[in-house]
Amino acid sequence: MTERSVAIVTGASRGIGKGIALELASLDYDLVINYFDFTADSEPDDSRAEQTQKEIAELGAECEILRGDVSSSGDRDGLVALAKTRYGRCDMLVNNAGVAPSKRMDLLDATEESFDRVMGINLKGPYFLTQQVANWMVEQKETHPKRAFRIVSTGSISSYTSSPARGEYCLSKAGISMMTKLYADRLAEYGIGVFEISPGIIATDMTSVVKDKYDKLIAEGLTPIKRWGKPEDIAKAVGAIAEGRLDFSTGQVINVDGGFHLRRL
Ligand code: NDP
Repeated sequence: MTERSVAIVTGASRGIGKGIALELASLDYDLVINYFDFTADSEPDDSRAEQTQKEIAELGAECEILRGDVSSSGDRDGLVALAKTRYGRCDMLVNNAGVAPSKRMDLLDATEESFDRVMGINLKGPYFLTQQVANWMVEQKETHPKRAFRIVSTGSISSYTSSPARGEYCLSKAGISMMTKLYADRLAEYGIGVFEISPGIIATDMTSVVKDKYDKLIAEGLTPIKRWGKPEDIAKAVGAIAEGRLDFSTGQVINVDGGFHLRRL
């Protein structure tokens, strides 16, 4: 059993999740990070996760890495089991892993296959991983009543913004918003804070395929703050939660979007 706080961060081999993991390491958390480098036509590649692990070690934190698909119950079990056996505790869960549809398709043509994939990874996975970790946090709270436990999920501006070419993604993120409210309500009696981070347009591999489109929209004033977001912008917000600065704000959505969510005239 370690004396340091421990966080599980899903989808932390790169992008926003990596930024969050590095921030938590700098705040003295040890980590278990998950990723899922797998496509049917290529060999799994652990190198990005290993690089994240190395950068976390350079910050003086311990870090275990585990490849696994958050939409698979067996893989979720493995992730929680690793945190239990390696550290014996989990103070923070960050549900960050997520995917865009493999192919953008109009709402009138989109497939059930893509719906099941996106909803499985972006919503079912976090929903049941949260259930599992929340039950463990409740147990930990009994033996360690002074410890703080927090759960954060990465939502999106897509939870309330229509993009008819990726309806399944929007639905999955709208689901994350309700999931946050549900768990915030249910877990408040145990002192477990539950939060949603709602990123805007953040420069990662996920958005690199639509870079030109968003460069133009941002230059034209889509967001009051005229720049792309960075993983560190999201990481700072998660850091504030990890430091306990928002502990009376359970259920809150933190918009990290350069002001995208503002209605403007
Ligand atoms: P990236 O594509 O850069 O990274 C995605 C991460 O999720 C990777 O670590 C990837 O692992 C992991 N991952 C993918 N599928 C699975 C799976 N089935 N099980 C476990 N891990 C998986 O995305 P971003 O960093 O941009 O996105 C992170 C989160 O932020 C997502 O939930 C996304 O929806 C959300 N978001 C992103 C925005 C943006 O503008 N970028 C805006 C709003 C929300 P691997 O490297 O092994 O493939």
